[in-house]
Amino acid sequence: MSGLAFEGVHKRYGGVVALAGFDLVVREGELLVLLGPSGCGKTTALRIAAGLESADEGRVLIGGNDVGRVAPAKRNVSMVFQSYALFPHLTVEENIGFGLRARRAGRMETARRVREAAALVRCEDVLDRKPFQLSGGQRQRVALARALARHPDAFLLDEPLSNLDARLRVETRVELESLHRRLGATMVYVTHDQVEALTMGDRVAVMRDGRVEQVGTPEDVYRRPANRFVAGFIGSPAMNVLPVSVKAERLHAGPFSFSLRGPDEANAKRPLDLGVRPEHLAMASGSSGAAVTVSLVENAGPDAYLYVEADEQRLVVRVDSSTRVKAGDEIRLAVRRANTHLFDAETGESLEGTP
Ligand code: ATP
Repeated sequence: MSGLAFEGVHKRYGGVVALAGFDLVVREGELLVLLGPSGCGKTTALRIAAGLESADEGRVLIGGNDVGRVAPAKRNVSMVFQSYALFPHLTVEENIGFGLRARRAGRMETARRVREAAALVRCEDVLDRKPFQLSGGQRQRVALARALARHPDAFLLDEPLSNLDARLRVETRVELESLHRRLGATMVYVTHDQVEALTMGDRVAVMRDGRVEQVGTPEDVYRRPANRFVAGFIGSPAMNVLPVSVKAERLHAGPFSFSLRGPDEANAKRPLDLGVRPEHLAMASGSSGAAVTVSLVENAGPDAYLYVEADEQRLVVRVDSSTRVKAGDEIRLAVRRANTHLFDAETGESLEGTP
């Protein structure tokens, strides 16, 4: 196994910029999740690493070696596509062994690696079937087994679970995580599902418009977002963002106000936004907290989302679904300053920790 690095990669398709100075280091043995909105360049990055596309500028290194001139078949990376890309006329066994036969591995060696890979993803009992005789989940496992059988230096997984139903998706996610732990394999996993990203990733790279906005552990990107985009992209429902005004030594944001702390005094010279996650707003009792009016209640199983209005601002609050609140109620909300995030309103950059 070896690591993978992108250095200043640019890629255009006609007038469309897919990657614009894409830099990323995937460490040996880690599962790194590439997360970002549709069209931000995730698939393009994987295809360039696999050699299915070439970069206009920049370098890709696998195991420290520049692979710009290395043919796809010689890169020893395995890509698993969202669409599985199984050969319909071949059996499962032939599909899994396809890459090995193409590389002229011996018959015995191919059979051994096919059995080993099939056992890892638990599809030994369907080796004689054709893809049309398999469920979506089984097809996905066969696609994974085909990648595993090649013993690649790195796995490139492009939304491999997106065609599965919700339950199978969770089951396969857990299997993939344990497979990663057992193999110690370097994996780049593309998704736009942030639950998958936060649960699976050793680290998460959040992308926008062809570049990386932040790379960090799931905890980093959730608790210490580098900017307003990452803050808004990670977390569901999304973080509430309120414009800030500074009056009489206090920060005012929607219905909330805080006294200026040391670093805030310097920050208060520029336009600011304040972010607060729905799960960090708490219902307060008595006269504490700020008064808001509930306009809508959404029940989401264990949680309920309260859409509230105050000072012409709309906020989402996450509460336990057993909380007895209905549309039209006036409630009081409290938030700790430590659970809020300050952003430069113009650049979006996080100002937490900066004086
Ligand atoms: P999604 O989550 O929707 O799969 P993505 O983040 O993987 O999106 P890419 O598929 O890498 O995004 O595409 C990045 C941009 O490049 C998009 O604007 C896309 O339309 C464009 N693009 C990708 N492939 C091609 C192509 N072969 N020809 C023209 N434009 C392309």
